[in-house]
Amino acid sequence: MLFVTTELFPWVKQGGLGDVSDALPKALRFIGLDVRLLLPAYPALQTVFEDARPVAKVPTLPGEASATVRGGRTPAQVPLYLLDAPQWFDRPGGIYDEHGDSALRWGALCRAAAAFARRGAKDGWRPQVVHAHDWQTGLLPAYLRYAGAETPPSVFTIHNLSYQGLYPPDVLPRLDLPPQSFSMHGLEFHGQLSFMKAGLYYSHKITTVSPTYAREIQTPQHGAGLEGLLHGRRRDLTGILNGVDDELWNPRTNPAVSVRYGPDSLGRKQENQPVLCRELGLEENGGPLFCVISRLVEQKGLDLLMEALPHWVDGGGRLAVLGTGDPQLEQGFTQAAGRWPGRVAVRLSYDEPMAVRLLAGSDGIFVPSRREPCGLTQLYGLAFGTLPLVRCTGGLADTVTGATPKTLANDTATGFVFTPPTAQALCAAMGEALDLWHHHPASWRQVQLRAMAQHFDWNAAAMGYEAVYQAALG
Ligand code: ADP
Repeated sequence: MLFVTTELFPWVKQGGLGDVSDALPKALRFIGLDVRLLLPAYPALQTVFEDARPVAKVPTLPGEASATVRGGRTPAQVPLYLLDAPQWFDRPGGIYDEHGDSALRWGALCRAAAAFARRGAKDGWRPQVVHAHDWQTGLLPAYLRYAGAETPPSVFTIHNLSYQGLYPPDVLPRLDLPPQSFSMHGLEFHGQLSFMKAGLYYSHKITTVSPTYAREIQTPQHGAGLEGLLHGRRRDLTGILNGVDDELWNPRTNPAVSVRYGPDSLGRKQENQPVLCRELGLEENGGPLFCVISRLVEQKGLDLLMEALPHWVDGGGRLAVLGTGDPQLEQGFTQAAGRWPGRVAVRLSYDEPMAVRLLAGSDGIFVPSRREPCGLTQLYGLAFGTLPLVRCTGGLADTVTGATPKTLANDTATGFVFTPPTAQALCAAMGEALDLWHHHPASWRQVQLRAMAQHFDWNAAAMGYEAVYQAALG
């Protein structure tokens, strides 16, 4: 199986895709599949895998020099192929920085990957299935489909439907795709070329990263204009939850946790809070301390949190925000920290050890997303006994059970949930959290223990993907 992706933790990571590209191939190999990665030879990967040896020559775009595929292995012994096409990938800066030629750049990756999948490596290895991820690899299923017989089937995974890769149609001839592909039954989307739609239309099977998101994207509210296509292909569409690396996201072992703890030593969790409060300039006593660890963007619903914040602070709550993004949200949270010194703290940065200290020292974590394909921070919150307060959408709906009289009575509650994307609904969930924390400490502890008992296992996810690959072959 050839796993074609644009990110790989820890060397090139922009979001959840980097984590998935690291963890899922390892888990698939663990259950016995011969999975191999293919990525562009970005400078960061060239340096790490300088020993990788040429295994194939492949075309990129018509009229261009062909590229060399080099083969190596990751430290976890996953075979890794690097597409060495310096004209497209040997560039400084971020991997998604715009240089005005992104359609051709990712098109070149897809065309080369399709050729490699068909011809295979020098040692005779050829994939039975090709697995592509998010819009940058969306043309890969299209190239495979138009390549004729002897071509492996493709699986396409949506990690976030909000980013689609839309370009004017005049790039089409340079991409060497047949003119008939530019149609409603193809990769055309309202007069533009859509990489995402190409992936969805031409792949044999489609997956996304949670069962609820798989249903939601078939509706106009979440489908970003592709709901009709997705609904039409619903029998080929599967939602498979991402896993969490238990070695990394574990309060018993993570080196960034000051006072390590587990379910059987939960009392020690509290010792992390004063340390965190001193670091952030927060009052050490008061009501519950909740954190946010997030990109500060519209998708994450943090404007709702800003609107509901007076209610939280009035109820005795404290808040610590870690994130960067939208200047308006950055400014809004900074102003809130000025308005409620000692009660609200903000750090506008990307800081992984800080994220771990927040998880260890906070009582809860807010994830009020408008849309959330899977979401990782609520899963970290569960693992750390840091109760997630989430909106009921996508992967959040699949992983957090809200505290209600019933779920508290039958010991299934793992956090707090609200549904309408409004500040009012969020305030109501905040009220539930404040009440439980202030008045029912034994119940709070019970919810923490239930949360920490949840496991999101990459091996379970790998078995889900294996079934999809089998179906694609069938
Ligand atoms: P998305 O991929 O939409 O950004 P996810 O919840 O799936 O959201 O993944 C976000 C990842 O990035 C998580 O691992 C989270 O801990 C991390 N993260 C986000 N913002 C920050 C930050 N400011 N500092 C450290 N880690 C962050």
